[in-house]
Amino acid sequence: MGFATDAIHAGQEPDPSTGAVAVPIYQSSTYVQEELGKHKGYEYSRTGNPTRAALERNMAVLEGGKAALAFASGMAATNAVMTLLKSGDHVVCSEGAYGGTPRLFNSILKNFGLDFTYVDTTNPANLINAIQPNTRMVFVESPTNPLMKITDLSAISAITRSRGLSLVVDNTFLSPFFQKPISLGADIVVHSTTKYLNGHSDGVGGVAVLAQEEDAARLKFIQNAAGAILGPFDSWLVLRGIKTLAVRMKQHETNAIAIAKYLVGQPKVKKVNYPGLEDHPQHALASRQMTGFGGMMSFDTGSLENARRFLNRVKLCSLGESLGGVETLICHPATMTHAYFSEEERQRLGISQGLVRLSVGIEDADDIVTDLEMGLSAIPG
Ligand SMILES: *Cc1c(COP(=O)(O)O)cnc(C)c1O
Repeated sequence: MGFATDAIHAGQEPDPSTGAVAVPIYQSSTYVQEELGKHKGYEYSRTGNPTRAALERNMAVLEGGKAALAFASGMAATNAVMTLLKSGDHVVCSEGAYGGTPRLFNSILKNFGLDFTYVDTTNPANLINAIQPNTRMVFVESPTNPLMKITDLSAISAITRSRGLSLVVDNTFLSPFFQKPISLGADIVVHSTTKYLNGHSDGVGGVAVLAQEEDAARLKFIQNAAGAILGPFDSWLVLRGIKTLAVRMKQHETNAIAIAKYLVGQPKVKKVNYPGLEDHPQHALASRQMTGFGGMMSFDTGSLENARRFLNRVKLCSLGESLGGVETLICHPATMTHAYFSEEERQRLGISQGLVRLSVGIEDADDIVTDLEMGLSAIPG
């Protein structure tokens, strides 16, 4: 089946007892057992819930994995995946990953004996140099946030495969509609479903998709044992969101291309970071590895003062963290998503004070452009 068909149908057969087309919200903590040791596959909703199970089957199909497990947030999914490791293990992580990821690694998991090295994975040689005898896992995010740098996932997985390391890819920025990391050699894919998968900015959730049966069994054990599950109502919201993922992603991209082209032509905009632009340093790689360029971009207004003027003037573009919703969201990485980093570290990463990140929504592109035009008019020429 094609992607759009799977998005709507995989794991979501009409309810056998009523014929309901939409998967019901099984808001139940427990399940009556017919007799001792005999039940219908569900015992207790931390262990398994039919609504969550439908989402998990759906995501396994969309990412091409053996199984998927849904968690209370994207960070809960990443945290659960990291507990596949044990004290003394070393992880190499993409520099420029979502800010919450190094925060979890450095401020919490380090205390439990895991060790982390951050490298620019856009150059695979940096990964090779960072591998230690105790390295067990490589955690990659592509494209990176907010500079939209692309890591060659096939080149990275060739390295991890040959050394027996597990490759985890955070695919939140593109969704499986535009990128399928497992087909490029990843072992585990994580998502914040809060973003494109749910797509409507009305729920927080996460999912991990496993390519290997052993990882799937172990993570299922961890999900039940540690318990950071996604609730039935939130699972239902994500399932509902995914039904329109294909049409939404196409429109996000169409709008993003139009807006990137508009911004490139503006003298007050210093630089536009969007992989769909031909002058993006990894445009060729992006075209090869992704089936579309997505709806995320960032651009430089030149200074903190200019960014402030711009952000205070726009109206339709809502100032806020998060991304991937139907509405256009705009944010200032230096003071919002990347406030956790020191100014020195931000400069090293290339996150300037004037940088603005845009999650292009699916409103009429003309209206978004008009709003950006208003914002730019607040910057002295
Ligand atoms: C938002 C986000 C996360 C964290 O997900 P939550 O659902 O907020 O916990 C992880 N990775 C990326 C790329 C994100 O954008």
